[in-house]
Parts: sequence; C-alpha cells; structure tokens
Amino acid sequence: MSNIPHEEEYSIHWIRQVVDSVLERDVPNYLISTGKSPSGSIHIGSLRELIIADVIKRQLQQLGKKAKTMFIVDDYDPVRSFPPGISLPLKEWAGMPYSDVPDEFGCHESFGSHWANEFIDTFSEFGLAPEIVWTHELYEKKEMQDAVRICLENTEVIREIMIEFVAHDFDEEQKKQYIDSMKTWFPASVVCPECGHLQAGVKGEIVPNRITRYNRDTEEVTFECQACGHTDTVSRSDLRLKLTWRIDWPAKWYIFKVTCEPAGKDHAVKGGSYDTGLEVSKRVFGWSGPVKVPYEWVQIGGHDMTTSKGVVFRPKTWLSVAPPQLYRFLMLKTDLQRTINVRPERIPDMCDEYERFERLYYRLDDGADTKRELIELLYPLSEPNGARATYIPKLPFKYAVLMSQLQDILGRETVIERCEDAIKKQHSIKRIPKGAQSLMTIRLEQARNWVEQFGSATDRIRVTPEVPIEVRTSLTASDRSFLSGMVRVLSPLSISDDEIQAAVFQTARDSGLSEKQAFVVLYRVLVSQKYGPRLGSFINMLGKDWVVHRIESVL
Ligand SMILES: [Zn+2]
Ligand SMILES: [Zn+2]
Repeated sequence: MSNIPHEEEYSIHWIRQVVDSVLERDVPNYLISTGKSPSGSIHIGSLRELIIADVIKRQLQQLGKKAKTMFIVDDYDPVRSFPPGISLPLKEWAGMPYSDVPDEFGCHESFGSHWANEFIDTFSEFGLAPEIVWTHELYEKKEMQDAVRICLENTEVIREIMIEFVAHDFDEEQKKQYIDSMKTWFPASVVCPECGHLQAGVKGEIVPNRITRYNRDTEEVTFECQACGHTDTVSRSDLRLKLTWRIDWPAKWYIFKVTCEPAGKDHAVKGGSYDTGLEVSKRVFGWSGPVKVPYEWVQIGGHDMTTSKGVVFRPKTWLSVAPPQLYRFLMLKTDLQRTINVRPERIPDMCDEYERFERLYYRLDDGADTKRELIELLYPLSEPNGARATYIPKLPFKYAVLMSQLQDILGRETVIERCEDAIKKQHSIKRIPKGAQSLMTIRLEQARNWVEQFGSATDRIRVTPEVPIEVRTSLTASDRSFLSGMVRVLSPLSISDDEIQAAVFQTARDSGLSEKQAFVVLYRVLVSQKYGPRLGSFINMLGKDWVVHRIESVL
C-alpha cells in the first residue's frame, strides 16, 4: 500500500512533462489515441487512459494547437474467453472476432459492439469526446489493407524485430526454438472463409490461422485453418486478414499518424509490445511512431480489476453513485507511475475534498495562495466541460446521504425543501441559483445509490413509520421524563443544530439520565437502533414537528 498517495497529496507535474514531450513532435495536427478490446464489461480503470488523452488534447488546444483524441475499439480481436454471465457456448465462438459474435442481449449488432457501447455511452458525462474507430471496419478500408500489404512484404524485417524483442530474455534452447519457428512465420492471420475462425483453441492453447506463404508478385496468400482444416491459396484482397497483435498496433499508428498514445504498464514495459511497435514503426513504416506515455493501473478497494474474471467496477456504476468530475480529479492529481486505489466507501469524503478544492478555485474560501498555480491547472481539467464562469453551490454529499434515506418518511417535496434550505444556509445565500437545483436532485439519487451499495451500518438509517412496540414498552420513567423534556426543548419556532445538541446534554442531566443513555433513548425512538447520525442536525433534517410528534407517540 506504500505507493498509494495521501488523499490531499497532489502530483501533477506529469501533465506538463507529457504535453512538452508531445509538443516536440511539432506537427500540424496532434492525435492522441487510446484503445480497448471489448471482451466484456470494460472497467473504470480503462478510463484513466482516456482521461490522460483528453487532458493532453485540452492542454494542446489551449496552446492554440489542433488536437483531437481517438478511441479504437479492438473488436476484430478474437474471443479468448467469455466473462462470467455469458451464456454463449465458448467452444463455438472462441477464435472468432468479437465483431462476428452475436449480442446475446439483443440490443447491439455484435458482442463487441455491446460491451464497447456500454463504455462509450458514459464518455460524454466524463467529458470525453474521442473519435470512435471500430477495428473490424478499419480492416475493410484501403489504408489498412495497404498497411497489411506493407507488413507482408516486410515479413523478413518483422521476423528480425520479433526475435529481437520477444526472445531477448529466452534461454539458448528456447531462443533456438523460437528462431526456428519464425522461419515460416507471417505477421498476419486469416479469418477462415469456411468457418469464420481467426484462430483455434481457448486461452492457454491458442493456434492462429497464420498465413503460411505469401507471393509478393501475385499477392496470393496461402493459409490453413486450424479450426476446421480448410486450406487454400487466394488473392489477398479476397480474404479477411488480421495483423498479429504486436504488428496491428504500429499499423494503426501509421495510418492515423498517431502523435501520442498512453499505455498501461503491461504493454508499456521495456521491450514489450509498445517498444516492438515503435521498432516496427521505424523499420517498416519509416517514421518514429507515437510518444509513449506509460501509466499505472487503477485498483478498486485494493484489488486489480479484470474483465475476464468479472472483477469490474464500471464507469456506469460510478456515475450512479458519484459525480464524474471526482473521478477525473482522482486520475489527474496522481502521478502516472502510481497505482490509484479507488475506495468507493470513501466517496462522500472525497466529494468533500473535491468541493473544498473547487471553492478555492472560485476564491470563496481563504488559504489557496500557495496552491494557486496547481488549482488553476487542476480544477478546470477535472471538470468534464472545463470550469464554469460562476460557482454553483452544492449540497454536501454527506447531507444528501441522510436526506435521501428520509424520502419515504417525509415525502419528496419536504426532502427537496430541506435540501434547498441546507444549501442556502451552508452557502449563506437567499436564492438557489440556476443549475444548483438539478445538481442537488442528481446528488440525492447518487447518495441513495451509494449508501445502498457502499454505505456502512452507520451510514444506513431506517426510519419506520411508527416506533416499534419493543422500543415503546422498554422505556423507563427517567427515559420518559427525558423525552418530555426534549419535547419542551423543541417547542420554540426554530432551534439550531448546535442548540439541539447542547439541549440533549442538559435535558439528560435534568432527568437523571447518563448522556450516553439519553442518546440511546432518542436514537431508538427515531431509528430503532442505539446509534445514528449526529442528533442536532438529524433532528432538524427530520423536522422538529415530526420529531415532537414521534416522541409524543411513545409518552
Ligand atoms: Zn447489446
Ligand atoms: Zn475454418
């Protein structure tokens, strides 16, 4: 856990460093690319890459440069395994491109499209607007087919690069075997025209339908399908081909002229697929390839996420429990080389932190002088649509957590009214400004979802319509005397949270009750358990009249 920074720590030098190295390319159009294979629900960790790309783009645009982002859906990749919850038989579909597998939910044109769109549908809320490229469509385009031809013509060079990069830490025997196997190796596979497979076997024992011969003059391709045994020699343009993974990446960089692409540590490791791609860029495509931006992974609650095992926290889930800017903020304020451990149970605290930060940006609170530069950079980049001209007051998330649970007992209108009062009080304003109301209702919904999924026992409250009989019958004479005292305390027209809190102590003393017992009695009458939220504010949330009525029902 040592590499997890303290919450208030900010390490944002990476933003300038990355932008500077991208600027060195000095091109008329900057393109920052990202990509993902739609093998199932795409987890929120993958958004780190898109947010990095988006921030580079925004910074370049601010400097007057032309810049855009791209998201490549690798839906032409073959199925290796299915995540839990998929009922399609893996045996039948393994080895087929994701774009050729049906969507068993029936809402999209393919399995790949279904999972990619679940992810893409959240982009606008996170402030992301990349151009979307579908790999299965890309391979039908002339540019990509030309790139495939260039690779096939340069098979010898690519074999050398593969041996250099893949076999560099093999022992002598392994190396010899690998070099032998590379003598007949070609950098592309064929989607079998007979059975539709790109490879045979499932994870662990995969054999691709690799090209076995390529005739440069006639452009004829010979192949043997490992899945059905079909073999043929056909003109390149009459077949569906796919470049092998390490070569597919630089081919895409080349045809789009990608200036920069972030990559997770698995691909970015020294001598890994990214470095192989850069070498292919230089020696096969004759250009430098993109600026490599390695980044560490995102964990949820201390665990790595994996789509294949179904360990995923979806961006969609995040949006149902927290604001999108909070996620951008978490991604941006941490150095790229650090793992980010997102703890959903801390969302209310993290919201508080972000909103304190926001108030500093708008100069509503003191104490920002030393952090001014950091705030000016980080806040607008965290907001999905950049900083607004004016501040919109927010309902504190923790207040929303309690209030959202009182809706059944108080009714929606009362809850909204109290929340508006809370915003006015918190921000010392007389009217709720435009925009604040809709944010407030979204927050109530997110808070309700958050407490159901991630709240602890102390966050969860349940107010029954009536005080349970066992509570009513267990009250002692001094409990009742204390409760009667509380009714008197609550009679004035208005009483502040702190005044209520102090009155509980005083009334307890007057009734000969210990302070602890006094709180227990009140909590049991209000929420049928021995503990609950801070009483002063909670009683005002419920409303004094409601509480008086409640107490009187047991006296
Ligand atoms: Zn679907
Ligand atoms: Zn076949």
